[in-house]
Amino acid sequence: MRLYSGEKLCGKCFCKSIESRVRATISKYEMLEPKDKIMVAVSGGKDSVTLLHILTKIERAFPEATLSAVTVDEGIKGYRDEALRVAAKNCRKLGVEHLVTSFKEMYGYTLDEIVGMIQKREKKGLTPCSYCGVLRRRALNTAAREAGVDKLATAHSLDDETQTMILNILHGDALRIARAKPVLTVIHPKLVQRVKPLCEVPEKEIAFYAYLRKIEFQGIPCPYAQTALRNDVRTMLNRMEEKHAGTNFAIFRSIERIRPALEAMAEEAKLRDCRICGEPTVGDFCKPCQMLQELHIL
Ligand SMILES: [Zn+2]
Repeated sequence: MRLYSGEKLCGKCFCKSIESRVRATISKYEMLEPKDKIMVAVSGGKDSVTLLHILTKIERAFPEATLSAVTVDEGIKGYRDEALRVAAKNCRKLGVEHLVTSFKEMYGYTLDEIVGMIQKREKKGLTPCSYCGVLRRRALNTAAREAGVDKLATAHSLDDETQTMILNILHGDALRIARAKPVLTVIHPKLVQRVKPLCEVPEKEIAFYAYLRKIEFQGIPCPYAQTALRNDVRTMLNRMEEKHAGTNFAIFRSIERIRPALEAMAEEAKLRDCRICGEPTVGDFCKPCQMLQELHIL
């Protein structure tokens, strides 16, 4: 096994090196406390299931910490059902409590139904991914808050993070980078702190880890997977990484270095309660309520 740095390791040492790097990331960013109640967002895909396995290992050293998992069932026929089964199976195997929340339950509609409604419209607006992203983030936060956990861990990899950084720049919204940190600043009591323990692990290495540890995950991509700008950025960064190993790390570290300056420039959003659902929002109505209203659901 060869790391991006060129270092060669046997399978066992490779897995140990990933685990100790995740441990180092957690302590560097002070992501978790010894007594934290942690909830892991598990979609059933490679990254999230691997995160659950690694955190289970790490948290064994902290008997006062608790670990649980949550899966959001967006309602994507023929795709999410299989992922849910895989997520549940991994949780059972690891002895982790597994919670499932769904769009249908929370919003009254599955993502398939929402997509059906968007497609009927003459004017094409947001993509299924935009709806899904906003509604899933809200669903995860609500589930974590209702479960009374301290931290919500998501499986964003180094690749995810650098793609988002570049995307923000391409969207002309560089100050947004200040907010998408490895540990999110809690700016409202209704928001559960989100942490990203895999933010310094390349996606390829997560995949190797999952393969070596024989972790079962769902491999097929979402049928709505976006063909948008993020895909182009991913392809570009993958090509760069192949030619110039360490590109993703270089981008990540550069941004980390200038983040304090970005944060000083970006005004901290002042949040108030949404006039419909009471959840934190910048304006009068939160994004999920705006989206649902647009669909004439509310
Ligand atoms: Zn609302």
